[in-house]
Amino acid sequence: MADAESIVSNFIEKIIINDMESGVIKAPVTRFPPEPNGYLHIGHAKSICLNFGLAEQFGGGCNLRFDDTNPAKEETEYVESIMNDVKWLGFQWTNLCHASDYFDRFYEWALDLIKAGKAYVDDQSSEEIRRNRGTLTQPGVESPYRGRSVEENLDLFDRMAKGEFDEGSKVLRAKIDMASSNINMRDPVMYRILKREHYRTGDKWRVYPMYDYAHGYEDAIEGVTHSVCTLEFQDHRPLYDWFIENVNVPHVPRQYEFARLNLSYTVMSKRRLLELVASKIVSGWDDPRMPTISGFRRRGYTPSSIRRFCREIGVARADSMVDIEFLQHFLREELNKTALRVMAVLRPLKVTLTNWPENFVDELPADNNPEDENAGTRTIKMGREIYIDREDFMEEPVKGFFRLAPGREVRLKHAYMITCTDVVKDAAGEVVELRCAADIESRGGNAPDGRKVKGTLHWVWAGDAVPAKVNLYAHLFTLRNMSEMEEGKDYRDYLNPQSLVALENALLEPSLAKAKPLDNFQFLRHGYFCADTDMTEANPVFNLTVSLKDSWAKESGKQS
Ligand code: ATP
Ligand code: MG
Repeated sequence: MADAESIVSNFIEKIIINDMESGVIKAPVTRFPPEPNGYLHIGHAKSICLNFGLAEQFGGGCNLRFDDTNPAKEETEYVESIMNDVKWLGFQWTNLCHASDYFDRFYEWALDLIKAGKAYVDDQSSEEIRRNRGTLTQPGVESPYRGRSVEENLDLFDRMAKGEFDEGSKVLRAKIDMASSNINMRDPVMYRILKREHYRTGDKWRVYPMYDYAHGYEDAIEGVTHSVCTLEFQDHRPLYDWFIENVNVPHVPRQYEFARLNLSYTVMSKRRLLELVASKIVSGWDDPRMPTISGFRRRGYTPSSIRRFCREIGVARADSMVDIEFLQHFLREELNKTALRVMAVLRPLKVTLTNWPENFVDELPADNNPEDENAGTRTIKMGREIYIDREDFMEEPVKGFFRLAPGREVRLKHAYMITCTDVVKDAAGEVVELRCAADIESRGGNAPDGRKVKGTLHWVWAGDAVPAKVNLYAHLFTLRNMSEMEEGKDYRDYLNPQSLVALENALLEPSLAKAKPLDNFQFLRHGYFCADTDMTEANPVFNLTVSLKDSWAKESGKQS
């Protein structure tokens, strides 16, 4: 990865360095241009890190621009979430821009193109236009309206803009070349009639520009030097340049393409993410299983881990699928250094220490994070009744299981060694309680005679444990590469029914009740968890961020 990074992330950097050295530019101006029709996802994070990163690196600027040229799908809620996500990732835009602020100029330039005989009003239906576009091997068919006079085109376009015609009855097209080997150049549509309320311009406009027509002009108006976009726009670049060359723009921008980010076990298009939200398959755009930036945030990811990931995957020109484990790797590395270690019992099993003095409460020192010498210690209390995790007991232990079992001794983390003496079951035969004897001499976790035990368990004291809900998450989809779905199947056919397991009866050490939303913790032996955005002291909720790596392998190999 490091190699790939140093070779390819340089391809745009190299262009910028060349442009600076040859005096074409003083410093780069870039932009991140989302359409406000959904929340941002991790793919957008790659584009954000690249665009803002280039500006930072070379002392230039980066605009946040809302590419809001389609009134049908855009909303203020999305605008706000996008600004919030960009800031959360750690970036600050030079200018906040809206394509809709340039509608007048786009319109003027359309008139210029009509006057130059380079645009015409077409009355064909969208179906006819599509059919007459031709194919990769066949040229397109010229529209019967292609020969309209400049006067007629100016008049018709003016009336389109005034709302005199129905949606779909007319479009404005560029007059380029219906036989071009590049289908994008076969008289692309510039404007269509849409009688919709725009969230910023209201009903002022009855015609709206297409992406290909508007995007280069947006860049030109803002003085963008390097317009970086994803590879699917490579074949649109001649068109981008054509629109720029055929009117008088204040500045000439250049487009460069890089590969989209695809992540394993998820879908990444806004359309599908919107469907997941609308059909309530997830709880919202910020559901911790979503690949959205807000979903990762609620899951407990940090901005720095996402930035690091985006840097390490590099910027290539070939599409690839990146494993979610790679992102998790950077997150674990960071949380290992920063997350406080706490004890949480997810599926409680009661343990009574039969030889423990009835009302005695011990106060034991516990380190907050052995990986961070400044993290300090806290005191945890322990009494006669405690809880351990159900999965840490086996009545008939299998080979390699070193935790609690009848007659077996284990260590309680930060506390005492205990031996299981009795198993209490209910009428149905289910284990409901363990009776254990504590070695009072082993306070701190070691017996004076140097006796060894293989298992160390986390626990909470019944006297102060805090009941909480803990959400365990897994991949939302069961297929690693969602672009390899079986023929005839839909992405919904691959939903993982186990993607959320909510544990309603978890017990936490009391320090966790004071957690603030999004605080990160390591629940010892379970993984990294974060306080949910909606949690309160009265109603604690924690989300699994990421498991501890290879927990079973590590634990079964552990000897002390
Ligand atoms: P989607 O297809 O998910 O709806 P989009 O490309 O339509 O995404 P935009 O709002 O137009 O979404 O994207 C804003 C910017 O983010 C564009 O420059 C686009 O190229 C970039 N971008 C979108 N998806 C990815 C991705 N998966 N990887 C890298 N960049 C992306
Ligand atoms: Mg788009």
